[in-house]
Amino acid sequence: MAKGKTIGERKLRPESLMMSYGYDPHRSEGAIKSPIFQTSTFVFRTAEEGKAFFELAYGLREKGPSEEIGLIYSRLNNPDLEILEDRLTLWDEAESCAVFESGMAAITTTLLAFAVPGDVILTSSPIYGGTHHLLTHVFKRLQIEQRVFRAGADAAEMEKALEGVDPAKLAAIFIETPANPTNRLVDIRAAANLARSLESAERKIPVIVDNTFLGPLWQQPLKHGADLIIYSATKFIGGHSDVIAGACLGSAEWIKPVRMLRTFFGSMAGPWTGWLLLRSLETLKLRMTAMMRSARQVADYLVDHPKVQSVRYLGLLRQGDEQYDLFQRQCVGPGSLIAFEMVGGEREAFAFLNNLQLVKLAVSLGGTESLAEHPASMTHSDIDPVTQVEMGITQSMIRLSVGVEHAEDLIADLEQALACV
Ligand SMILES: *Cc1c(COP(=O)(O)O)cnc(C)c1O
Repeated sequence: MAKGKTIGERKLRPESLMMSYGYDPHRSEGAIKSPIFQTSTFVFRTAEEGKAFFELAYGLREKGPSEEIGLIYSRLNNPDLEILEDRLTLWDEAESCAVFESGMAAITTTLLAFAVPGDVILTSSPIYGGTHHLLTHVFKRLQIEQRVFRAGADAAEMEKALEGVDPAKLAAIFIETPANPTNRLVDIRAAANLARSLESAERKIPVIVDNTFLGPLWQQPLKHGADLIIYSATKFIGGHSDVIAGACLGSAEWIKPVRMLRTFFGSMAGPWTGWLLLRSLETLKLRMTAMMRSARQVADYLVDHPKVQSVRYLGLLRQGDEQYDLFQRQCVGPGSLIAFEMVGGEREAFAFLNNLQLVKLAVSLGGTESLAEHPASMTHSDIDPVTQVEMGITQSMIRLSVGVEHAEDLIADLEQALACV
């Protein structure tokens, strides 16, 4: 086990390591916090050292048993990013991590590390708007085809989506669970079994899970057979609605081509972003736990309200519900995202949104402040109305990201806004 992860036999939990892991104060004048290494390049001690660092960075030879990749240039590596990557691996028990300047940079770089023209990417649906646009417009131009199955599909339905596809052309299975905004779960194990059944010695098929909504606290996809995890670190990981960032995690073998492409796309995060995320990680568990506790109270309140037609929140799943067993198997907790439908349509939904006082009307999620939005006309407006309805996105639906405010104050705000409708 790596240094600093244990005390005697005790394996320390991630939250105990977020303030210290991967950083040696004595290499930085004793500063308890990592400085911001705002530098583009790093000085080599000797020409031989510079040569050795490049050999490793460009994969020209294997790393020696006790050899470390030295610092070269901040597009390849930087101390703030390396400490952040080390700390992020702890939550998902991943071997390796690469951080990016946005969630979209992480998704684009990761998918292009595996897909070439003529390939197919199988995805769940609905999927994040940016990812949807990337696949249906940008990748289409690159002749990378997308095949789709709906969130909640069983193994047979996932396989059916690949009808007529040569398995040798399948570059990746990319899923998002729970789906946004409907909170329908995608079975990670079923997707992994499908990938394993279709891959060959020549071509491995990575199962990539966008874990932004529940991770890293309430869902750990690698434990359910996924190969790579993606985060928009803009959301819960950053957690304060003040930074855009992303990450990709997995085994060293899977991360290697992703990191290599990141170097040449230049899609890495900057040192300032890395430093901000280090600060955020110290309170990640506290924030996510408080937000989930309040979300349960808010969901219970909404369920009983006469102007609310339905509430989709994972914490409301009960034994006998279609997705209950999958939730129990795959998730550690229900998180803090709630979607609910008002009685009525867009007019009622807008009246509610326009009257909120404490909750802010904005897209994004996972930050300290509660946010509400209207998926049909905002985050999911790119999807045609018929498909929206098929996905369960209706005109009266509101998506709510519950923050760290007092639950009773949030409920008071929802109550007065609902009364205005
Ligand atoms: C926000 C988001 C993204 C994109 O992340 P950015 O940091 O905005 O680039 C990707 N996937 C999901 C699920 C998201 O919520």
